[in-house]
Amino acid sequence: MTDQEVNIDKNIREIKRSLPEHVTLVAISKTKSNEAIMEAYEAGQRIFGENRVQELEVKQPDLPKDIQWHMVGHLQRNKVKYIAPFISMIHAVDTPRLLREINKQAKKNDRVIDCLLQLKIAEEDTKFGMDATQIKEILASENYSQYENVRVRGLMAMATFTDDKDQVNREFKTIHNLYKDLKDPYNFDILSIGMSGDYPIAIENGSTMIRVGSAIFGDRE
Ligand SMILES: *Cc1c(COP(=O)(O)O)cnc(C)c1O
Repeated sequence: MTDQEVNIDKNIREIKRSLPEHVTLVAISKTKSNEAIMEAYEAGQRIFGENRVQELEVKQPDLPKDIQWHMVGHLQRNKVKYIAPFISMIHAVDTPRLLREINKQAKKNDRVIDCLLQLKIAEEDTKFGMDATQIKEILASENYSQYENVRVRGLMAMATFTDDKDQVNREFKTIHNLYKDLKDPYNFDILSIGMSGDYPIAIENGSTMIRVGSAIFGDRE
């Protein structure tokens, strides 16, 4: 592990200091140890994100109960039940059936789970997510209006992994425009865009929630 070369406390404080007040930092702790997470916790961080259900299940019981866990990765429907008792937000809702399953499992746990709908903006076709039409269809659907145990608070996306800042800027503008259209009609208040390499561009394009891993915890193996 190269953990000892990374100053997690300093990274957290510097990133937080640089953020406008309306932007929330989600510390992405995937592959990182509980010790590393506790270092961020001691620096005041309370929102952590993971991208695998199994890792969340292992980490959550051993860490402080006031941590708000966000699931940021692709989520399979048959795994929702494992995180429904404790998850505070699910970022990457990419099908109507997934949203329905989250509502069902949240109800079983007598909870309301915050969700974001994932827009596919990246050019590589390996990325998950929906197009704008599919997102609008969910929001306008009969089912959606009856869900009592999910609260869709906005949109999430990942930009193409590229050094081309113009392209990233273009992609973030696309999602920001959709977000602006849907914000008032659907009471949205969260736009989750921006990772270690592109969060300043995301903030310029209206991000209210950034998901930062390696810039806090160092590179992953
Ligand atoms: C890993 C991950 C991040 C954080 O990536 P970094 O480049 O390490 O900041 C953000 N969002 C999602 C969905 C991820 O899987």
